[in-house]
Amino acid sequence: MKEAEYYENLDNERVRCKLCPIYCIITPDKCGQCRGRKNINGKLYAINFGETTSTAMDTIEKKPLYHFHPGKLILSISPNSCNIKCPWCQNAEISQMEFSTRFVSPEDMVGIAIKNTSFGIAYTYTEPLTWFEYLKETGRIAKDRGLKNVLVTNGMINEQPLLDILPLIDAMNIDIKSMNPDVYKRIVKGDLDTVLNTIRISKKHCHIEITNLLIPELNDSKEDISKLIDFVEDIGKDTPLHFSRYFPHYKWTAPSTPASTIVMAYKMAKERLHYVYVGNIFMQDISNNTYCPDCNNLLVERSFMSGRIVGVNDAKCSKCGRKVDIVMT
Ligand code: SF4
Repeated sequence: MKEAEYYENLDNERVRCKLCPIYCIITPDKCGQCRGRKNINGKLYAINFGETTSTAMDTIEKKPLYHFHPGKLILSISPNSCNIKCPWCQNAEISQMEFSTRFVSPEDMVGIAIKNTSFGIAYTYTEPLTWFEYLKETGRIAKDRGLKNVLVTNGMINEQPLLDILPLIDAMNIDIKSMNPDVYKRIVKGDLDTVLNTIRISKKHCHIEITNLLIPELNDSKEDISKLIDFVEDIGKDTPLHFSRYFPHYKWTAPSTPASTIVMAYKMAKERLHYVYVGNIFMQDISNNTYCPDCNNLLVERSFMSGRIVGVNDAKCSKCGRKVDIVMT
């Protein structure tokens, strides 16, 4: 446990957390919405500091990050907290409910990564931004030892703490739940503008990929998908976009996303963006390989959750020489 950063004291020993746009006002002995920060005697503490639900070696493709060190394995870890409330959360057991954790100090976590010959640490599965203090400390040590830091996140963080943490971060996959602010406000209890701001700022500092879980009748209309593509095109058509198939889980019972919706979204995005992928579904007529946008040369071949670089020399397409939009160093 560690005293939290980014909070202010109010009257009667209450505190206001300023890490994310929820701005929880927390009375003594209570936690904020994310369950990771608690008011103890009028001070805010990160009670999730170092408390880890999972440690696993995953391929980087599993995050999903397809344009960042393809094919490499990365130590993947998570806290038992999340600051939003997606009723379909595929990891609800560890993000939305109390789950057993074990304490791993920042030094020890970096030691585990090195021992497993991981090229970095991915803070993932739940919401790593609610692990802010641990992320900062572990990320600093990891960086000093030559490791990469990767976030798989909902992007719900205020601008000042974001700018504070970004120098440590090498890559992020940011999930856009919907381009409808009302879905954020009413259903997931978050804030769309904050997420889009996080993406715009982060794109200037590190490698970014975006995921959108397509959920029937929630965010899968042509209009919804079009707005998402507008945004991604605006930040750069080189930004990889992953459409992911939803399955009923936790509190959401709508049927799984039809394959036809994934195909529609994929085709719409491919008309305007360089790199579009699909996840949680196997489709014979959609390839998750990466091709050169200029000459269509195969750059990275993928099967299941792993990638293999095949058409890249010196960070350029081996056929036409175009600089590839893939981070490899
Ligand atoms: S980080 Fe947690 S405690 Fe702080 S404002 Fe967000 S939800 Fe509330």
